[in-house]
Amino acid sequence: MQISFENKVALVTGAGRGIGRQIALTLAEGGATVICVSKSATCEAVAKEIVGKGGKAKAYCVDVADSAAVAEACAAILKEFEKVDILVNNAGITRDTLLLRMSNEDFEDVVKTNLNSCFYWIKGLVRPMTSARWGRIINITSVVGLVGNAGQVNYAAAKAGMMGLTKSLAREIASRTVTVNAVAPGFIETDMTGVLDPSIKEMASKTIPLKKFGQAADVATLVAYLASEQAGYITGQVIAVDGGMTM
Ligand code: NAP
Repeated sequence: MQISFENKVALVTGAGRGIGRQIALTLAEGGATVICVSKSATCEAVAKEIVGKGGKAKAYCVDVADSAAVAEACAAILKEFEKVDILVNNAGITRDTLLLRMSNEDFEDVVKTNLNSCFYWIKGLVRPMTSARWGRIINITSVVGLVGNAGQVNYAAAKAGMMGLTKSLAREIASRTVTVNAVAPGFIETDMTGVLDPSIKEMASKTIPLKKFGQAADVATLVAYLASEQAGYITGQVIAVDGGMTM
């Protein structure tokens, strides 16, 4: 099967590192023009890497938790590119601690960055998709949103919220042939899981049926498929990439 993103414009949030970087590289390899978004300048290095390989990319440093900044970026992006065909809401953070120790700020920052950001980007970019009767929205959630995790009530609430948003929006815009899906990674080797104590990593690996952490490419490959023409009959789904953790 040949997947092509020629003439498509994709936007990936959190494209500066980890899973988002790999998604940006994969979509660019397929021919998409990729708008790479991150909070710091990491997105600039990724856009440069794509262009260096002969692809098309542009970097935007935007705090996805800031609704005004996202609205401003969306307006500038639509002015320059006229449309975004593929939106991947991948930016995310964790602020783990038990509920009794969790500050309001820890809760709100995590929900704003992971969940509110999806709403802001979709609001800013969905109209040209519905007008064109073609679009792909992919939200990167987590298995934690499906099964919960002690120490992550903020993150689990945000990730479960993304699943509800995905399913509701899929129903709203299916008539415009815009699909909306969520991908739920389990443990993937990135900076986010790099901070875990080696003993915790070892214990976690034992609970995964496939007995290892996944790679960013495992997630990016599914995202690329969901973004493709071929995936046009899949919408409103939450698909886990978790080595069998949640089967
Ligand atoms: P990561 O390596 O920590 O990278 C996170 C990316 O998000 C970075 O590029 C970061 O920007 C960006 N970001 C964070 N806050 C932002 C903000 N306010 N505005 C703009 N960009 C922001 O994370 P990852 O492991 O690749 O995770 C990617 C996604 O997958 C997240 O949504 C995460 O919750 C989800 N996920 C990951 C795992 C896992 O095991 N790794 C498992 C399940 C779900 P900077 O580069 O500028 O810091």
